[in-house]
Amino acid sequence: MLRQVAEGVLIHESEFIQSKSVVVQGRAGVLLIDPGIQGDEMAALANDLRELGQPVVAGFSTHPDWDHLLWHAKLGEAPRYGTARCAAYIRDLLSNADWKARVAEMLPPDIAEEIPLDLLGIITGLPAETAQIPWDGPKVRIIEHQAHAPGHAALLIEERGVLVAGDMLSDILIPFLDLDAADPIKDYLAALRLLDGVADDVDVLIPGHGSVGGADQVRARIEQDRAYVQALRDGGVPDDPRVGPSATFGKDWLPGVHEWQLQRLAQRSERDGTPG
Ligand SMILES: [Zn+2]
Repeated sequence: MLRQVAEGVLIHESEFIQSKSVVVQGRAGVLLIDPGIQGDEMAALANDLRELGQPVVAGFSTHPDWDHLLWHAKLGEAPRYGTARCAAYIRDLLSNADWKARVAEMLPPDIAEEIPLDLLGIITGLPAETAQIPWDGPKVRIIEHQAHAPGHAALLIEERGVLVAGDMLSDILIPFLDLDAADPIKDYLAALRLLDGVADDVDVLIPGHGSVGGADQVRARIEQDRAYVQALRDGGVPDDPRVGPSATFGKDWLPGVHEWQLQRLAQRSERDGTPG
């Protein structure tokens, strides 16, 4: 079921950690951002769009994590995009003969069977520094940053006042850092500053997981994420309701992310002989 959150911008929520798919209406069809998780959800979304007379004319994946890379044949064969870094990362993964088995290991076991992997990650990388998604609709600005995943992009639909944040600024999940990056903490704080820079233009915030927020939520969530990342850097105990059992959503495959991040960062600083 689609719900309108701003003029010409609709969302679909998946049962899986409140994943948000975003539909942006253009002149001859829609842009579909992070299409969804389970096969029947994406098929239903395709049916809804057909009933609205709105074919998918472009797709976009905010970053190269499996839950943002899926697609369903019923959504059609529109070009699907991501940043150049995102596309390079997924191309690398797909070049392994056993990529499906590798991805399958990451799937939540209770719904793994219902997640179609055949069309995962078939995206075209937009050249580095591409300012907006090439499509016939409202201008969608690409705000690329390194924080959660390589080539992660938030999208700003300026004329609608909408920020599609990808896996940043969630009200239910703590920041998950890209711990393979050279300086994950610095990257994350820089990304939050980048988002802070556009906060005044945002009336509606759509995170990849969690609830849609209004204008007042943008800086509140930036502050909450910054406080978490700083606590992680300083080895402190974050005063953050998202840490702990609530963040696991009763699923046993997501617990302990905070402890795991702490541990990984400690191992790095031991190895490098430098703090965090
Ligand atoms: Zn995600």
